[in-house]
Amino acid sequence: MSGQNMPGQSDDLWREKLSPERYHVLRQKGTEPAWSGELLHVDSPGVFHCAGCGSVLFSSDDKFDSGSGWPSFTRALSGEAVSTHPDTSLGMVRTEITCAACGGHLGHVFPDGPAPTGQRYCVNSLSLSFAPGTSSPSEPGTTT
Ligand code: FE
Repeated sequence: MSGQNMPGQSDDLWREKLSPERYHVLRQKGTEPAWSGELLHVDSPGVFHCAGCGSVLFSSDDKFDSGSGWPSFTRALSGEAVSTHPDTSLGMVRTEITCAACGGHLGHVFPDGPAPTGQRYCVNSLSLSFAPGTSSPSEPGTTT
């Protein structure tokens, strides 16, 4: 297996740190049931962090209602925050997205999103934690 891990972060530590549901999605590439996500209907200003490592991944500015049942974004906050990987599992050709910092599975990105990017980042709510407040990252003095 060639899964990325944070240095020193063993599988046992991930199991300790994450709830079983988050562990399954982030570390085992699971998929939460459609319409089940707590963050699906969150539309207030804020940023979405990786639930594994806290890296800032998405902004409420880019969130849209895709009708898919999963939180959806037109783009990641930065090209470096989210990595893409070809995924041919389940007999489909898709592009998996992971947190670049910890390798946690986020979901998939599809080329059928709205303007301006045409991209649809389809993300498991369980992969994310929401920090309400400003919709741009790294506001000085912000605490959670
Ligand atoms: Fe992460």
